[in-house]
Amino acid sequence: MNSPKLYVVPIQLSDESVLDPLLMYLTHVFHLKTEILHKELDLAKAYNAERDQFYSSVILADIIENPPADAFRLLGVMGFDLYIPVLTYLFGEAQFKGLGALISIFRLRNEFYKRPHDAQLFQERLLKEAVHELGHTYGLVHCTYPGCVMNSSTYIEDVDEKLVTFCSSCRQVVEEGGKV
Ligand SMILES: [Zn+2]
Ligand SMILES: [Zn+2]
Repeated sequence: MNSPKLYVVPIQLSDESVLDPLLMYLTHVFHLKTEILHKELDLAKAYNAERDQFYSSVILADIIENPPADAFRLLGVMGFDLYIPVLTYLFGEAQFKGLGALISIFRLRNEFYKRPHDAQLFQERLLKEAVHELGHTYGLVHCTYPGCVMNSSTYIEDVDEKLVTFCSSCRQVVEEGGKV
């Protein structure tokens, strides 16, 4: 049997090479084989013209539909801005103890905040948000331990304040595995 995989699904990314360090890091953190999966998604269904944003939950449902047989988790990485009706925007969404997670890189670039380009900072933010949302799929809730990657993030400053790693108690939950 093939070993279970974490599939990273690029969605409307102008440059998929930003995913290379992410794949390496996720393999290391979750001890899973990690691969890119290109998937046809019905983005028109998720687009809200009035908000000029995409409804996160609609895309997430699409990502996990008919997953590969060896998929342990699927993580969508979206180039455009995401929303859910009760929030102005969101960095990401995940299914609690579920198969799928989704993040957006739209608000992770410094340029979005009219600040100077910083490739390394962007990569760190990308890793943090990916690990955070995948953490929810392992059953982790928001953690208040200073610096834990499971700290909640409303603003980019919150993302920058936390680390890219789990605190020891969150780490333990992930190590225990949380099979779907
Ligand atoms: Zn969260
Ligand atoms: Zn924690």
